[in-house]
Amino acid sequence: LLGVANNLVIKTNSPLETRALAEAMAKLLMPGDVICLNGDLGAGKTAFSQGVAAGLGVKAPVTSPTFTLINEYHGRMPIFHFDVYRLDGSEQMYDLGYEEYFYGEGICLIEWAERVQEVLPQERLDVFISRHEDSEDLREIKLIPLGERYLLLLEELSNLVHIRN
Ligand code: ADP
Ligand code: MG
Repeated sequence: LLGVANNLVIKTNSPLETRALAEAMAKLLMPGDVICLNGDLGAGKTAFSQGVAAGLGVKAPVTSPTFTLINEYHGRMPIFHFDVYRLDGSEQMYDLGYEEYFYGEGICLIEWAERVQEVLPQERLDVFISRHEDSEDLREIKLIPLGERYLLLLEELSNLVHIRN
C-alpha cells in the first residue's frame, strides 16, 4: 500500500537526490511508459528527466527542449523528452503527431504536461514537483499513478526508496 489514493510523496534535498530518485525509477520503466512532469520554472522537471535518461543509459547531455519542443535520446529504450511550455494549447500536439510518441514503444517525458491535458493518455504517471519556503534546495515530489501499470511501478519504486507517505 502506498497510502492515500496510492500516491507516493518523496522529499529531496538536492538536485542530485532528485536525479537519483528518477534514476531508480528508470530501472523499472517499460516501453510505452509516459511520465508527465509538472511544477513551476526551476522546480526540477529537467533534473528529474536527466535522472531518468541516465538510468536508461543515456550518455548525452539532457537539456530542456524548450525551443525544439521535443528531444530524442537513445538508451535502453528510445526516450522522447517534451517541453510543451511554449504551446498555446493542444493543437500543435496534433501537428507534431503526438500519438506516435505517447502510444509508441519509447519512454515519454513531458515537461509542463498540464498544458496539454486534453491529449495526455489516460494511463500515465503524473509527477508534481514543488519548492519549499524552508529551504532553497528542498523539493516535494508527488507521484500519482493513473492506471494499473503505474500503480505497480510506484509499488516497486517505493520498495526501492524505502520511503512511504
Ligand atoms: P525545470 O525543468 O522544472 O524548470 P530544472 O530541473 O531545469 O527545472 O531546474 C531545477 C533547478 O533547481 C536547478 O538549478 C537545480 O540545481 C535546482 N535544485 C535545487 N534543489 C533541487 C532539488 N531538490 N531537486 C531538483 N532541482 C533542485
Ligand atoms: Mg525544464
